[in-house]
Amino acid sequence: CGIVGYVGPQDARDVVLEGLRRLEYRGYDSAGIAVVADGELSTAKKAGKLANLEKVLAERPLPAATVGIGHTRWATHGGPTDRNAHPHVSDDGTVAVIHNGIIENFAALRSELEADGVEFGSETDTEVAAHLLARAYAALPEAEGRLAEAMRVICRRLEGAFTLVATAVTEPDTLVAARRSSPLVVGVGDGEYFLGSDVAAFIGHTREARELGQDQVVEIDRSRGLTVTDFSGERAEPKAYTVDWDAAA
Ligand code: GLU
Repeated sequence: CGIVGYVGPQDARDVVLEGLRRLEYRGYDSAGIAVVADGELSTAKKAGKLANLEKVLAERPLPAATVGIGHTRWATHGGPTDRNAHPHVSDDGTVAVIHNGIIENFAALRSELEADGVEFGSETDTEVAAHLLARAYAALPEAEGRLAEAMRVICRRLEGAFTLVATAVTEPDTLVAARRSSPLVVGVGDGEYFLGSDVAAFIGHTREARELGQDQVVEIDRSRGLTVTDFSGERAEPKAYTVDWDAAA
């Protein structure tokens, strides 16, 4: 339902939570956040209102981080439980994924992964994306843009409408996102980047936005900046615009 991502010098925990608050108007049944810090991927997620998640975070704080993702879920596959809340982490602990929309062919993908020994921790359609992404990532050589390439590999297999955002434990300065028939906007600040299912997620920080086209993947890297491609890897130019006050009100 609601998607937030941040990479930059601020504390990602605060920026992501604030973004989730600004997306509350969309309605949701659970919420969660993941950050990458000190070579570890840490998540917190909770059914119910954001206040429930905030309580969990107060009792068991996540580490300060420069990259983070957050999600408010409106359940379509699997009930609104803590386990089904996003982010979903791959079985090997290397990547975390948040997702809006529906992965139509998740049942076939889940069977394939289970046959391969993957144990699922949720009933969501989303979780297949986490395991597939980790496998695609592991199969690629260490190189710049590896997470984005893994995202393109899995998007070519996913059917349905989705916005996906991913972080990898080995890439603490990078966020990758993909979209098909589901919205995704990038906010560009001064040495920092935001992701949102709509501009409300980051309007308190920047009004410079980039809109992704259909079937595109964006890689946001703190040093390399913004790279957009289609699912096959062809470079694309995102549409740049400035969010006006009316749209933000
Ligand atoms: N289909 C996913 C789920 O049920 C995502 C729902 C959403 O868009 O929030 O977990």
